[in-house]
Amino acid sequence: ATYLDHNATSPLRPAARSAVLAALEVCGNASSVHGFGRKARGLLDDARQDLAHLFGAGSGQLVFTSGATEANNQALLTAKQGPILLSAGEHDSLLQSCADAEIIPLCENGLVDLEWLAARLSRKPTPAMVSVMLVNNETGVVQPLEDVVALAKSVGALVHCDAVQAAGKLRLSFSELGVDLLSLSAHKIGGPAGCGLLIQRDGLSVTPLVRGGGQERRRRAGTENLIGIVGFAAAAREAEQGRQDAMDRLGAWRQAFEDAVLAEAPEAVIYGDGAPRVANTICLGVPRLPAETQVMAMDLAGFAVSAGSACSSGKVTPSHVLRAMGVEPDAAASAIRISLGWNSQAEDLPRFLKAWLALYDRSRAAA
Ligand code: PMP
Repeated sequence: ATYLDHNATSPLRPAARSAVLAALEVCGNASSVHGFGRKARGLLDDARQDLAHLFGAGSGQLVFTSGATEANNQALLTAKQGPILLSAGEHDSLLQSCADAEIIPLCENGLVDLEWLAARLSRKPTPAMVSVMLVNNETGVVQPLEDVVALAKSVGALVHCDAVQAAGKLRLSFSELGVDLLSLSAHKIGGPAGCGLLIQRDGLSVTPLVRGGGQERRRRAGTENLIGIVGFAAAAREAEQGRQDAMDRLGAWRQAFEDAVLAEAPEAVIYGDGAPRVANTICLGVPRLPAETQVMAMDLAGFAVSAGSACSSGKVTPSHVLRAMGVEPDAAASAIRISLGWNSQAEDLPRFLKAWLALYDRSRAAA
């Protein structure tokens, strides 16, 4: 079968696999003073340094977590006095963990409504934090983070950015982005699942979410997930090395695919194509064909794609991201996501298109 669901999780990269296998042989708690512990500590320190360097941060600014869900939950705890503003397109790990957040609407093209944000920031109470993702997991739309940061900073609000879907796709520098907090996840770039990062600006007052031992400079308790962290660093190195070439390649394949879809399936819609997007993601909608039907038919035909985000498939509610872009519920419920990655091949999309058009033609004939 052909895997076209990299935004849900990306297969383990070869470099990450080797690093993980080597780390599996290491017995030692990085907090132990003996030789075994020092060996683990050495691997941990190297991984931390590499990740810090790759993502434009200082190694003391990195806090390893159990994934981006925890990093996002933790980030929200940094907001002290005042409301939290979340964009309507954020991941559930933000939207579902902050019941009283104020929601920044999206425009039709998927970008956050900067005019709304500017107007809100000119009013009291001044928000404690603004959280806007860099790249949306369902549409691939790239948000204007520079503008968000400038607006938020003008009123002294903290800025958090979920950059999970940007890593390996865009140049990503914590210091250049100018945000206060940034979340990342290993398994979206070909590292193991269950490992993430929260990068924090120095001097933030942090309330730990996970409490206990003094690991991660007292910011996140628990024995470090050495296997995950070492795999994360190896995946990040490989992803960054090949990033530009990979994105040029994927971008060309996607363009050809989208041109062909629109030519051969006149009712098809590509969501987010009116905004800057990362090269690997296609959010494709067509009336009459529920996303679940498409996903199952494509699975039978040997292609793995998803209905909206993986986290929301299983439940039949239409994507909250597309709904926020003004897409009607029925249309939103018939959108699928095709996402490419490091092991995608030139023939994947043309073969998928053939199978998908067969389904599309059957549905047209039945209508
Ligand atoms: N944020 C975004 C944008 C995501 O796509 C995901 C993964 N679905 C997460 C956060 C959660 O990451 P994790 O699986 O590491 O908890």
